[in-house]
Amino acid sequence: MDMPVFPNYIDGQWIDSGSHFENRNPADTDHVVGLFVKGTAGDIQAAAAAAAQALPAWSNLNAPARGAILYKTAEILDRRFDQVAADMTREEGKTLPEAKGEVRRAINILRYFGGEGSRLNGLLVPSERDRVHMFAIRKPIGVVGLVTPWNFPSAIPAWKLAPALICGNTVVLKPASAAPLSAWRLVEALHEAGLPKGVVNFVAGSGGELGQALVEAPPLKAISFTGSCQIGNWLHAEASKRRLRIQLEMGGKNPTIVLADADFNAAVENTVNAAFFSTGQKCTATSRAIVEDAIYDRFLDAVVERTRKLKIGDGMQPGIDIGPCVDEAQMDTVLRYIEIGRAEAGAPKIGGHRLTDGDLAKGFFVEPTVFADVTPEMTIAREEIFGPVLAVMRARDFEDAMRVANDIPFGLSASIQTTNLSRVFEFVYRMEAGLLTVNLPSAGVEYQLPFGGTKESSFGPKEQGPAALDFYSDYKTVYLKY
Ligand code: NAP
Repeated sequence: MDMPVFPNYIDGQWIDSGSHFENRNPADTDHVVGLFVKGTAGDIQAAAAAAAQALPAWSNLNAPARGAILYKTAEILDRRFDQVAADMTREEGKTLPEAKGEVRRAINILRYFGGEGSRLNGLLVPSERDRVHMFAIRKPIGVVGLVTPWNFPSAIPAWKLAPALICGNTVVLKPASAAPLSAWRLVEALHEAGLPKGVVNFVAGSGGELGQALVEAPPLKAISFTGSCQIGNWLHAEASKRRLRIQLEMGGKNPTIVLADADFNAAVENTVNAAFFSTGQKCTATSRAIVEDAIYDRFLDAVVERTRKLKIGDGMQPGIDIGPCVDEAQMDTVLRYIEIGRAEAGAPKIGGHRLTDGDLAKGFFVEPTVFADVTPEMTIAREEIFGPVLAVMRARDFEDAMRVANDIPFGLSASIQTTNLSRVFEFVYRMEAGLLTVNLPSAGVEYQLPFGGTKESSFGPKEQGPAALDFYSDYKTVYLKY
């Protein structure tokens, strides 16, 4: 069977230079999902030039008409829902139900921002002067570069593309090399929905090679990046040299605080769900469970028993809870941190190994792993692992738990499990994180409210919800005497 080739998309043309890289299934590395075209610095320059050329017409098209294209894109994706979800499971490894949830979310995001086309409001306030009418309108910022990670390969491109487009910007999208197909499907749907040429350009290929070209492309006005702190911080420094607007969403080390008064079973379920679903490869995953002393032993036992029931395997199979790590490098990172954890905290209470029985040997499967009695100074309590590894930590009481929870450089998401309303509000006001959940898993956010973190996890305006418009538009203020 011929291997499908997924070309780059520049100035409305599908471009195949003939130089390809493989997109392999992390659950079965014998299976190549497709070939992607290796983009070059020249492709990035051509994409940025095409975006600059397309900008005047796109930004002058009325916003409801731009919204209509997003609605149509959503419809096209909806029609291909099963195929797009299956593609995602095959390229990224998350289970099919999780992939379906993500594709549904991408569709909803397109519809939500499509609706913004009819709402894109500015500001209108009374003047202190007689017969002066003053208002501010939103204008696009221009050509924006979008750089996305592999872990939400459809939702993250969607939550950057949709607000960028509705505000009238044009785009160069660079997806993650480990999972470019889901973003490609989105671009394919935009193309079929009638997006004018040059408005969105897609260039796959190594971030290391393409990143510099993107940041230096003369028409570029802004970059929105989601990924690791290391790359985000580098991009920030480069972007500052050219005074590009920048938005960074990066790593986390998210805590779930479990208090003695919590609904015990729900707290166990929420913690295991947030730590291990999507193989712990969510930026909002729980990697530290900080548990009040009074229930610590019982909670630890219950988490271990619940973890034992998780089924690991190819996410295309029914009944699987946890798929593989996205690639070998990610698996090796996880296994390296497990060894660090062994040295710091002793043998894990469960897990700790790569799984190689039968067909699992063809993939990058790591057992969900629980370390107990982890203390705040340990590496596994401080550094992002981005895999199925949970550190369980003991806290004397609520105050101690809050101190430990905040004692890290990251501030993405955090959760508390408690029935005490006062503690909930203490947590809401004092927790140093951008996304909080109460009696829910720390992961699992919706698109209608702002998304993003604080401290070293994030920089710049928030994504999603109405806040997304603030990054992708500029106010122009008008004073008018009549
Ligand atoms: P990554 O290695 O930083 O890669 C992210 C993107 O940046 C990829 O498209 C990558 O391309 C590209 N890239 C690599 N080097 C670059 C460079 N020099 N210039 C410009 N772009 C470059 O991150 P990842 O491994 O894909 O994703 C995992 C990380 O993302 C975790 O830290 C996770 O916490 C974070 N994340 C954060 C959020 C959030 O909202 N806060 C959400 C999801 C994930 P290649 O793939 O070609 O290398």
